[in-house]
Amino acid sequence: MDDNIKWFYQTKAKMVMEALKANRINSSYLADASQVAGHVLGLIAGQASVAVGGSMTLTETGLLEAIRQADVRFIDRYEPGLGSDETMARLRAGLDADVFVSGVNAITEDGQLVFVDGNCNRVAGILFGPRKVILVAGCNKICADVTSAIERVNNYAAPINAKRLGRKTPCVKTGVCEDCRSPERICNATVIIHKQADPQRMHVVLVGADLGY
Ligand code: SF4
Repeated sequence: MDDNIKWFYQTKAKMVMEALKANRINSSYLADASQVAGHVLGLIAGQASVAVGGSMTLTETGLLEAIRQADVRFIDRYEPGLGSDETMARLRAGLDADVFVSGVNAITEDGQLVFVDGNCNRVAGILFGPRKVILVAGCNKICADVTSAIERVNNYAAPINAKRLGRKTPCVKTGVCEDCRSPERICNATVIIHKQADPQRMHVVLVGADLGY
């Protein structure tokens, strides 16, 4: 990555980390995506039960596979051959995991976290249940405020995710969100984390790279 972009991301991340701290959310900054897997595994105690939310960032950084190989009790929702009943059972079990790991759709400069979810197991686990929540985000997810964060999610991340998932939604044809009524809609809940009550529960790992959508 260009040194000037690296500087920009690091400077933005510093500001966001101070805001997160004021919101009782821990954070750390990594200059490179290759550091993510080792760093996050270091935040997870051995033998913890671990669940993940759907996230391109976890796949791109190798973190998903690293969790699968680690000495933890991984509640693997992606295990090949799972039927729909067992997949749902694992998604529910993930809501009582020791650690929930996910990406973020957008982070505001004042330290708020914005998510749009379809199934809503991801936002459910982030809101309550798992004792610890670790969220990984490239600095491309930083937005000025909640309005621009929601705009980013609705008009950029959601159509691309709908395309990735092969959904039959209007945005997959036009690239534009039409606030559809499709049963295949992936935007069924918008969640904004303003702050945390327990300052030890949530940890955001910011990465000086473009990750996910
Ligand atoms: S609401 Fe519908 S059209 Fe808009 S991004 Fe979500 S799935 Fe696409």
